[in-house]
Amino acid sequence: MFCRKNEELQAFVYEAKKVTKDGNVADYIPALGRANVEDLSIAISYPDGHCVFAGDIIEKMTLQSISKIISLAMVLIENGPDAVFEKVGMEPTGDPFNSIARLESMVPSKPLNPMINAGALVVTHLISGESVAARLEKLLKFIRKMANNSAISFNEEVAKSEYDTADLNRSLCYFLKQHHLIDENIDDLIDLYTKQCAIELNCLDLARIGLVFAMNGVDPITGEERMPPSIAKICKTFMVTCGMYNASGEFAIKIGIPAKSGVSGGIMAAVPGKFGIGIYGPSLDKKGNSIAGIALLEHLSKKYQLSMF
Ligand code: GLN
Repeated sequence: MFCRKNEELQAFVYEAKKVTKDGNVADYIPALGRANVEDLSIAISYPDGHCVFAGDIIEKMTLQSISKIISLAMVLIENGPDAVFEKVGMEPTGDPFNSIARLESMVPSKPLNPMINAGALVVTHLISGESVAARLEKLLKFIRKMANNSAISFNEEVAKSEYDTADLNRSLCYFLKQHHLIDENIDDLIDLYTKQCAIELNCLDLARIGLVFAMNGVDPITGEERMPPSIAKICKTFMVTCGMYNASGEFAIKIGIPAKSGVSGGIMAAVPGKFGIGIYGPSLDKKGNSIAGIALLEHLSKKYQLSMF
């Protein structure tokens, strides 16, 4: 894909970079702690095939929680919404993404939505296949098609770093297993989930994935359908209600664009009918969202009136 550096965008990046010092890189997954706090880059992918960028867009990031919306799309295609939403809800939470609290207080016990870790673990559990490797390969194939990049793979070091320290996610899994929401070996599920989160790509790839969601599941550049419009619609709705964790309400008011973030500092955004955005900025705010990425999106949304509301 032809992608041009854009001076205006570069000026916005320069401005937004100033807030990187107010955040921190995630270090609860040790391998993520080595990211450069000052990095910030953005790519925007348009339906006519052109693309603009600013910053170092070749730099790779791991998907982390952004993977949750993609695994959800794939599992919805495979199982249909009824089977998926029998096991995971549709409601936002005001809790942090890795909270265990509501699992116990909800009756019957069921994760509130697929964007919090508990719900995402149920979704990953639903990826069918004979082995962890086969299930991961299926997800990778899906992501490669969405991003139109056959070179996408996962970062083994980041996956292992999370696997070795994933005690909270393991606790969520044991709880979910006790309540019959998952019925597989927990080590296998954590193995698959941490590899899913460690899938590695760059801003250009993220922008192209965002474009597919923005265009209701069709890649306008190849003309191929990646998912039915009804599933793209479900995903975009979750991006609005739960995509930015427990900051989704404020994000909807200030920015108003369906988006999904990850603790690596990535944000994938889909401006309905218009374009896809990929951002990498590893300095995070207190809720785990890219602090400069949000500043940049807020600026773009206000300047170009991108809010869907
Ligand atoms: N792999 C991370 C975790 O489960 C993803 C979380 C995130 O990006 N918010 O903790």
